[in-house]
Amino acid sequence: MPNDTVIPETTVDIALIEAHIRDVPDFPREGILFKDITPLLNHRKAFAASIDALAAPYRGMGVDHVVGLEARGFIFGTPVAMELGAGFVPARKAGKLPSETIGQAYDLEYGTATVEIHADAITPGSRVLIVDDVLATGGTGRAAVELVRRAGGTVVGFSVLMELSALQGREKLPDVELHTLLSV
Ligand code: AMP
Repeated sequence: MPNDTVIPETTVDIALIEAHIRDVPDFPREGILFKDITPLLNHRKAFAASIDALAAPYRGMGVDHVVGLEARGFIFGTPVAMELGAGFVPARKAGKLPSETIGQAYDLEYGTATVEIHADAITPGSRVLIVDDVLATGGTGRAAVELVRRAGGTVVGFSVLMELSALQGREKLPDVELHTLLSV
């Protein structure tokens, strides 16, 4: 399926979710407008609504694994995995996972970073949903897609709470079904 932001029909209150994301200017450094999801996590209804909305398009799609991107993708990805009856796979920064890993490097503004999963985490032939909080430049998401495919999985989608559209991250994911709840 092509790159697609259409929010599926749902009873989820997107405005309630948006109202609980806090903008923090100049964090972690000057010029960055940080999207702080901690008020959302601490609001029972808004948090539940966000999990429901992230999972909704993938119900009944036979998702075997949800890959969550460190660190906030863990918080959203684990309940989404529970909702979908899937396993959860953490994608971590290099050197954090204890067993044998596969890694994928990606470019940062300065230098590169690597995202890793355990080499045995994705069953070859399985269906995989990737989850994160914010899609910014798309570098992390792109690396995660490559990792899942190298592990033999099929990426059925990338479900993200918020897309920072000015950074054009979706252009790095033209071959992925992208589901974003909010675009700012
Ligand atoms: P990117 O690889 O540029 O798409 O960055 C994605 C990762 O960086 C996500 O895991 C986000 O959690 C984090 N991130 C990037 N920009 C922001 C921002 N303005 N506010 C909050 N998190 C961000």
